Amino acid sequence: MTKPLNIPFFRFDQMHGPIREDLLTAATRVVDSGFYILGPEVQTFENAFARYCGVQHAIGVANGLEALHLALKTLGIGPGDEVIVPSNTYIATVLAVSYTGATPVLVEPHMDTANIDPGGIEAMITPSTKAIIPVHLYGQSCEMHTIMDMANRHHLFVIEDNAQSQGASCKGKRTGSWGHVNGTSFYPGKNIGALGDGGAITTDDSDLAADIRKWRNYGSSVKYYNEIKGYNCRLDELQAAMLQVKLNKLDQWNDERRRLANRYDQALSGVGDIQTIRLAAECTSVYHLYPVRTSLRDKLQTVLSAKGIGTLIHYPVPPHLQAAYRGHGWKEGQFPIAEQHAKTLLSLPLFPGLTDSEQDYIVETIQSFFL
Ligand SMILES: *Cc1c(COP(=O)(O)O)cnc(C)c1O
Repeated sequence: MTKPLNIPFFRFDQMHGPIREDLLTAATRVVDSGFYILGPEVQTFENAFARYCGVQHAIGVANGLEALHLALKTLGIGPGDEVIVPSNTYIATVLAVSYTGATPVLVEPHMDTANIDPGGIEAMITPSTKAIIPVHLYGQSCEMHTIMDMANRHHLFVIEDNAQSQGASCKGKRTGSWGHVNGTSFYPGKNIGALGDGGAITTDDSDLAADIRKWRNYGSSVKYYNEIKGYNCRLDELQAAMLQVKLNKLDQWNDERRRLANRYDQALSGVGDIQTIRLAAECTSVYHLYPVRTSLRDKLQTVLSAKGIGTLIHYPVPPHLQAAYRGHGWKEGQFPIAEQHAKTLLSLPLFPGLTDSEQDYIVETIQSFFL
């Protein structure tokens, strides 16, 4: 056995190190500009991110949760409406629906891809259903062609939750460009993260884009004239400047994530009862996370931790079992696949800058655990 290393679940060093001077130059530019809210930095980043996603418009907002919330607001979704979301996702997806007063309706994921099962959506559509929010979980695109066909047949809106998947694609078309209005997050640990909070909405619809620009800025397009009861949830100039620098690196970082994921896939295949996440046909992943499934999850996590390897669980409690949703009427056992994932998934370290020898050590530790 190689000597113990200390491998954190995630670190920024090798991502931020090489661009440190560029980040500081951009920060200095903003400091010296005397202009900090909705100025040229946000506009420049919005244009660059729209181009990256392959859409006409990107609108910078305060965070990913607000991106989803405003996407729902601009589509007119509110009390009495139902919105379909996956039963295993980060809580933000479900909260965004609750914020509007609409009802989140959960649909189970595929056991193997961990993404919403398009086959399960149709049975949950009612006359009150207004929209579907597919979440590209762990970085893998959902089967968007199938979901869009179904949504069009039932006259439903689609809002992609692109928080974990900037740069992924389905049938060669980028995530964030399929749905009518899509949200993403620039939380620091996302594949492209700000140095603080941030988010964006992407859309090809010019009218909705103009409306979202009002929603994020007090319902106003002309200062001190308020057309709707909007919010204050703008992306700020400093974060937009950081994001411009980091967007230039995103493809390179995603390639590195993909390379590391392929190494894990190869090395862990057939080890114990480990199951890796499977890619759906014509879908790619940018491996925001690298979860594996095993019935010995808790024991494995303890052993890895003792050997200096950081891991996390995404997510330990599915939305329907969260205390926040206790009054909602969801019951334990109602979404068995989401519950199974919560009990068996363990995310291994995977980030640009994880070295091959660190990864080999993680793999060897897992292999000897199952011996
Ligand atoms: C991170 C995340 C969000 C929310 O983003 P914030 O910027 O933290 O508000 C929404 N959905 C998913 C799937 C996420 O992973």
